[in-house]
Amino acid sequence: MDRVILIKYGELSTKKGNRNFFINTLYNNVKNKLKNFDVKIFKDRARMTIKFRDEDLNSIKSIVDKIFGIHKYHIAYVVETNDEKIKQCLLDIVKLEKFNTFKIETKRSDKNFPIHSQDFNRVLGGLLLKNISNISVDVHNPDLWIKVEIREKESYIYYNSHTGAGGYPVGTQPKGMLMLSGGIDSPVAGYLAMKRGVVLEAVYFEAIPHTSLEAREKVISLCKKLVKYTDNINLHIVNFTPIQEEIYKKCPEDYCITIMRRMMYRIMEKIVKQYKGYVIINGESIGQVASQTLTSMNVINNVTSIPVIRPVACLDKLEIIDLARKIDTYETSILPFEDCCTVFVPKHPAINPKLDKVFEAEKSFNYEELIAEVVNNINTIKVNCNDEKEFKDLL
Ligand code: ATP
Ligand code: MG
Repeated sequence: MDRVILIKYGELSTKKGNRNFFINTLYNNVKNKLKNFDVKIFKDRARMTIKFRDEDLNSIKSIVDKIFGIHKYHIAYVVETNDEKIKQCLLDIVKLEKFNTFKIETKRSDKNFPIHSQDFNRVLGGLLLKNISNISVDVHNPDLWIKVEIREKESYIYYNSHTGAGGYPVGTQPKGMLMLSGGIDSPVAGYLAMKRGVVLEAVYFEAIPHTSLEAREKVISLCKKLVKYTDNINLHIVNFTPIQEEIYKKCPEDYCITIMRRMMYRIMEKIVKQYKGYVIINGESIGQVASQTLTSMNVINNVTSIPVIRPVACLDKLEIIDLARKIDTYETSILPFEDCCTVFVPKHPAINPKLDKVFEAEKSFNYEELIAEVVNNINTIKVNCNDEKEFKDLL
């Protein structure tokens, strides 16, 4: 018996003016993600269906589960729209199930179908009661809630429901640049941004020899986890060493982190402009460390007018960890490699930095020149979904 994946758009359908754009973006994303499978994908304004080969179901399901814009889907049996055939199909599939109570809910989108929904519920219910022993109808809390959708050519029968990844399809928003460290928070921030439809590129600041190639490898591994939710991610690797060394030579110790992060934002602004992004995204969370108090954020953010999106700003660390586990980045994030933010941590970083003090400290070296040089020497790699190659090339 043929089955299809039946996708309901959910939140997408509230986007009146943009509906077609959202549906087409989702369609293209689904098509692209399933390009290695023998599938047929159809869409209309209310739903999308994917016809697949039975043996591919589990692999396809695990991909579909990570496509944003899908809120709910069903694996439905497909049958020609003909009352006798629907009856036979229902009986055949339901006989394989273990249940005591059931309910049938028919939805007749094809008004040419001669039997009204309520009447057909009774016909189908009667059929099951007659052919399967020890079952009864329960309209409130049935073991098996069977939905029958009558459409023009084909009808669908299903009684399962799978929760999708939710959100909006990636590509319904333009590009955002994620500051991706090897930590727990920033991959989660990237995941949440993609969930709103943002096309993601990532930027990693490294400070070799103070940070290791393993730290870079870890960031690439994190990108590989994130790319499962999209098509590919460009990862820009910034050699931050010259700037970081100058900061630690020339600036007061308690202001090093504040100034380092201002430099990161200045570089991010240039990268956003160069690669035609619209926002900076990062894993800052209010109060988590000295540089993430509201006063620090205010002083650090002062260097750029580009919006900074902080998807995990208001989450507790434990809530972030739950998400990191869900998206399978946690185990990679906790691998113990030094990040450039952790190699030179001062004993008492400023919790309430003052702008005038920052301006004074920043006068001590020519950062504009260093930033221009660093931005000129960015090393970009494309991280694809099924490709281990770039990863090995770099090691
Ligand atoms: P994470 O926040 O990802 O767990 P972390 O806690 O080590 O890592 P923080 O010091 O909290 O990082 O930095 C706050 C945010 O700044 C990070 O979430 C990340 O978005 C960005 N960031 C920090 N270090 C780097 C880096 N080396 N490269 C790119 N972005 C960075
Ligand atoms: Mg953090």
